[in-house]
Amino acid sequence: MGKLKNIKKPELKTNLPGPKSRELMKFRDEYVPQAIYKTTPIFIKRGEGAVVEDVDGNKLLDFAAGISVLNIGYSHPELVQAVKEQAEKFFHSCFNVLPYESYIQLAKMLCEVTPGDFKKKAFFVNSGAEAIENAIKLARKFTGKSDIICFEGCFHGRTLLTSSLNSKVKPFAFGFGPLVSGIYKLPFAYCYRCAYGLNINNCNFRCAERLNEILQTVTTAENVAAVLLEPIQGEGGFIVPPDGFIERIKQICEENNILLIADEVQSGFCRSGKMFASEYWSVAPDIIAVAKSIAGGLPLAGVIARFDIMDAVHHAGVGGTFGGNPLSCVAGIKVIEVMKKFNFDKKAQKIGNKIYNFLSNIKDKYEIIGDVRGRGAMIGFELITDSKTKKPSSRARNIIVEECYKNGLIIIGTGLFDNFVRIFAPLVVTEEQVEEALKILENAISKANIN
Ligand code: PLP
Repeated sequence: MGKLKNIKKPELKTNLPGPKSRELMKFRDEYVPQAIYKTTPIFIKRGEGAVVEDVDGNKLLDFAAGISVLNIGYSHPELVQAVKEQAEKFFHSCFNVLPYESYIQLAKMLCEVTPGDFKKKAFFVNSGAEAIENAIKLARKFTGKSDIICFEGCFHGRTLLTSSLNSKVKPFAFGFGPLVSGIYKLPFAYCYRCAYGLNINNCNFRCAERLNEILQTVTTAENVAAVLLEPIQGEGGFIVPPDGFIERIKQICEENNILLIADEVQSGFCRSGKMFASEYWSVAPDIIAVAKSIAGGLPLAGVIARFDIMDAVHHAGVGGTFGGNPLSCVAGIKVIEVMKKFNFDKKAQKIGNKIYNFLSNIKDKYEIIGDVRGRGAMIGFELITDSKTKKPSSRARNIIVEECYKNGLIIIGTGLFDNFVRIFAPLVVTEEQVEEALKILENAISKANIN
């Protein structure tokens, strides 16, 4: 195999999608339901670093990274080696039945690298949604209370409990009811579209104060087990709360014996410019849920919490057959080792600064760019029809995403109003690849701006 990861820019042999991808898409549509959504109509053959080759031999830059799973890039050689070695020993034994050391090593590493200068414990499950489900079980058991407060714009998964938490009713909850009760939502600190029409310079965190209000008007502190939030909202469109917002939320939580759960599923593992985005806060969450980039693409998720919260749960109250699979655990250990050894946090800051500065510089040239935001290498931009009304433009977003993949750059959209473009460059991307990607992106933006 050649060094796919070193190509400087996309190398396209066919129009995209190519003929083999088109054939496979027909095959897919025959046997896979429409509910399993699709964003890029190209089938992958292999990937290295930030580059993928499709089944037609086209080479593309992948700045979707499996939705923030490949922070370490495709096929990192140290990860491949670790997984191969484990594969030759055993695939599965079930940690509850025949334990293995890598599970404990990874739990220890996570307790050490997550924020919070207190004794912690960790356990593993299979997906981000399952991690959130378990974080809520812990909070309920520890506090003896049941209600959960989350935020408008949040996304926490697709199980029934997490669908009940999510903000965007369509498609995440519509038709799946009755949903789980005892869940209340607060406006998030989405300053570009402040729920109260205020300005960050003089709002005194009006949205955080809403927590105190709903503890009077909608539920009561005696019922609320936890406040659950994403340090940077992912699916909501990379909404970074201003400094001080989380601190105020945590303060209100402490005054009311409520736990704070951080969903670091999308923002974790150096994506934000720190190992965990909650490190930007001056307070630590009581429980942290992690997944996505934790094992470089192997399915794994984890819950890390204060030891007294963990130990409040009775014997066999959490866990499962596949949680902490040995292949995933050795991959997880390697991901943290590599990220620490090669300063992936700094890499994310450098890549993110380049992308952020580029987008900020072109913002005034294109009226459809309403807001450029994010932190570290979790950067994106919100699209609007015009700067006066700030009406969300999902149309512009769709044009940009399509123009990009047709020219060899894979990116994905998101946003509460389907009008956000997010960029998840793998953190091993080269500077030249970022520059080429930004050229393709600007070209796509210019097309959407006139269409
Ligand atoms: N939490 C956040 C913040 C997410 O972004 C996601 C997935 O996108 C989830 C939870 C759910 O993770 P999973 O798809 O692994 O269940």
